[in-house]
Amino acid sequence: MKDKFSEKGKPIENISAKKRMQNDVSDTEKQNKCPECGSEELIGDYERAEVVCASCGLVIDENLVDMGPEWRAFDHEQRDKRTRVGAPITYTIHDKGLSTMIDWRNKDIYGRDIPARNRAQWYRLRKWQRKIRISGATERNLAFALSELDRDSSRLGLPRSVREAASVVYRSAVENKLIRGRSIEGVVAASLYAACRRCNVPRTLDEIAEVSRVSKKEVGRTYRFLTRELNIKLPPTSPVDYVPRFASELGLSGEVQSRAIEIIGKAMEKGLTSGRGPTGVAAAALYIASVLLGERKTQRDVADIAGVTEVTIRNRYKELTEQLEMGVTL
Ligand SMILES: [Zn+2]
Repeated sequence: MKDKFSEKGKPIENISAKKRMQNDVSDTEKQNKCPECGSEELIGDYERAEVVCASCGLVIDENLVDMGPEWRAFDHEQRDKRTRVGAPITYTIHDKGLSTMIDWRNKDIYGRDIPARNRAQWYRLRKWQRKIRISGATERNLAFALSELDRDSSRLGLPRSVREAASVVYRSAVENKLIRGRSIEGVVAASLYAACRRCNVPRTLDEIAEVSRVSKKEVGRTYRFLTRELNIKLPPTSPVDYVPRFASELGLSGEVQSRAIEIIGKAMEKGLTSGRGPTGVAAAALYIASVLLGERKTQRDVADIAGVTEVTIRNRYKELTEQLEMGVTL
């Protein structure tokens, strides 16, 4: 099997060029594909009025019937209203609003009217107090969020650059008042997920959910919300991006990795990866490569690491071996 993919270094170049091309296309044909991983396996969850990606678990469309109170409260109009009222009512106030507040009715603490000449002064005080409270709470929350972020990313073994990228996403969420009504942990997790994608060290929603103690659905939903509100555009991930990590977690050699990347490159050329979840393709390619090079892993092991089902691996494996005419006996 000598061809251009056998040459070291070449396949990755080809793949990234291809990837860029696919990204351009995917922006215009989003309807029946997961915007995150490009998978076409979408599941309608009618009870919760959602469409969920079967491959990566992302909640793609929560507008089927009813978006639920959590969502409804955060349209722009409502956000503006709340913003104008002043301090948010949720626990973004660190003391939940229990600290002394200068009364708004122009009465002193004994209920007596405040003389008109003093009112301007009271007004200023109120304004100041509100400012101090908000900034104090925001700072505390930020400190908490950043420590969560550090904890999560070290559990995921992420490099410093990804943490930085995630904290940038988180801070812009704060600045754009997107945290309200959401858990800090959830927003942190979603920021991390986005940062991993941006830095090309993708983690699955499952992995992020596991370390952050936030449900996969909440991570996915919050991620969708953040990327939409902050106008973050991330290209779908390529199966290649998952190969090194899956391989090292499976204890597979660099040779197996390269072979898996070759297989994916060929599959991309033949259009076998479009509409397929990238983790499933990566897993199947690694599985095939492990067998070809005598480092066989079970489908179960590979499936577990990749966070996909054995059925997915078998399906991808079938497509790949048939279409690429690889005589693999498994
Ligand atoms: Zn997906």
